[in-house]
Amino acid sequence: MGSLIGLGELIIQLAKSRGGGAIGWLVVYSFFRFLHRMNPKILCSRKILYHVEITVTQACTLRCSHCASLNQYFKNPETFSKEQVCNDIDILFKEVKFVVMCRFLGGEPFINKGLATMLQHITKYKKKYGLLGITTNATVVPDDNLLLAMKEAKVCVRCSDYGENSQKLKELCDKLSEYNIPFEIHRTREWRETHKPVKPNAVDGNENWRRCYKYNNCRVVKRGKLYYCVFLSNGEDLGVFPYNSEHGVAITNDMWEYLSRKKPFPACAYCGGDGRVLEPAKEQAKAPLEYINY
Ligand code: SF4
Repeated sequence: MGSLIGLGELIIQLAKSRGGGAIGWLVVYSFFRFLHRMNPKILCSRKILYHVEITVTQACTLRCSHCASLNQYFKNPETFSKEQVCNDIDILFKEVKFVVMCRFLGGEPFINKGLATMLQHITKYKKKYGLLGITTNATVVPDDNLLLAMKEAKVCVRCSDYGENSQKLKELCDKLSEYNIPFEIHRTREWRETHKPVKPNAVDGNENWRRCYKYNNCRVVKRGKLYYCVFLSNGEDLGVFPYNSEHGVAITNDMWEYLSRKKPFPACAYCGGDGRVLEPAKEQAKAPLEYINY
């Protein structure tokens, strides 16, 4: 194990010395995903995070009924201030040695007016992360100020293509090309009905957790805390399961133990869905969806 992580650190150094580049970092990213799936403790022991999502807003320009992030349930979604997010960035990079992939996420991140400042701020830590990303649903085209900040920060943009719902996809891609900002168009063939708030123990929380332990690689940063998944992060705000201090952790040295956890969270018993196949983003709710506080 020790030699594998040593090899990983060597690959990071190599990628850095060659100026990185999206392809180089994708190799690093794949290697660390392999290590993470073998045993998440290996990375924790070196204070390395594989994939972190920094939440900049819970508001979205779409309201997909089956969004796994639970944004469709918010009646008063919060868009986080630039001060709050910059503070999250500071405490994160004070604690971690390296983040392989760091992504700004919403809701729809382009609606946060402070995003340009956040991007400028995170570049202070550019030696401590590999790939910097933003995921968008391609309904908003950033203004020139934000496009310049994205170019400067060397951000890679993932544009989800939800067909007619991604109304600005072409316009957005044209702008990104004009500013030489790397991007990918991400077409998901199908969604699965999962991560829905359900009646406790209507699902096998242990089984859910076992799948997540292996395959759920993204951790969420919000309001100075780190969460294992977006269901725990947004579900806590919505109150779709009873509050439990185990669900999130302050971004301190304690988070490494939290991330090395090998048993389900209490909320895993509320995290369900029938697994049926869905067309991505097809069903749009007209108003925030209702949920039951169990
Ligand atoms: S709540 Fe538990 S089962 Fe659901 S996504 Fe998070 S870790 Fe996985």
